[in-house]
Amino acid sequence: LPASKALSIETPEMLKVQVFQNAACNWRCWYCFVDFNRLSADRRVSEYFTAVDLIDMYLEESDRPSVIDVTGGQPDLVPEWVFWMMEALTKRHLENSVFLWSDDNLSNDYFWRYLTSSQRSHIAEYPMYARVACFKGYDAASFSFNTSAESQLFDQQFELFAGLVSEGLDMYAYVTFTGLPKDGLSASMARFVDRLQRIHPNLPLRTVPLKIEVFTPTSHRVKQGHTLALKFQYDVHSAWLEELDRRFSSQERAIPITDVSLK
Ligand code: SF4
Repeated sequence: LPASKALSIETPEMLKVQVFQNAACNWRCWYCFVDFNRLSADRRVSEYFTAVDLIDMYLEESDRPSVIDVTGGQPDLVPEWVFWMMEALTKRHLENSVFLWSDDNLSNDYFWRYLTSSQRSHIAEYPMYARVACFKGYDAASFSFNTSAESQLFDQQFELFAGLVSEGLDMYAYVTFTGLPKDGLSASMARFVDRLQRIHPNLPLRTVPLKIEVFTPTSHRVKQGHTLALKFQYDVHSAWLEELDRRFSSQERAIPITDVSLK
């Protein structure tokens, strides 16, 4: 939807996208569709490229998609990457015809630590760009279960998302609902949606739950707890839908995600 809106095209049933992956991530989600050796900055399975190299390789494709996804791994371990891609697209006169999308696992503050304010403003104001950031669970326990990271980093995800909204980026959210089965689901979900709404009252309407499935790279990682979580995610999703029903009218729920304002 964000891509087709930016490109002024009918939303297709299926969209072809050119994907570039940063071969590094600071987390290890058990459900990650990327092989773990592609997350460890291993030079045996990855290469250094400049952003201009990537765009020039993309231009050599005969049937080029109009969307480029900067993903990973965690793209923002190289916070300059999105900025450099914008510069490279502009250098090749593609800034009005190619939509740039990037993913973010909400794990670090490098966007502020390593980019200048003018670089941050450029990213926020670049018209053909949007970012999606993923909440890796709906509470600290599910976050830690999913990422193998410290549970207090769950809180940091909200701070980082709020910072990106404040900078004026066109932000969307994913959430993954896998976690070990537990009681008190409605209360946990209410707290999660409260925290989204503290960032912006409309943020739940820009948040897309991702269904976790087993892919070839993940099949050997799935242990007993993960199998339970794969089943329990449907209960969590039902709690999410109930919470949204309590807080939003059916008309609000029907607004296309691209028309939900976070201003
Ligand atoms: S944060 Fe994303 S890229 Fe990193 S391990 Fe998790 S799913 Fe994979």
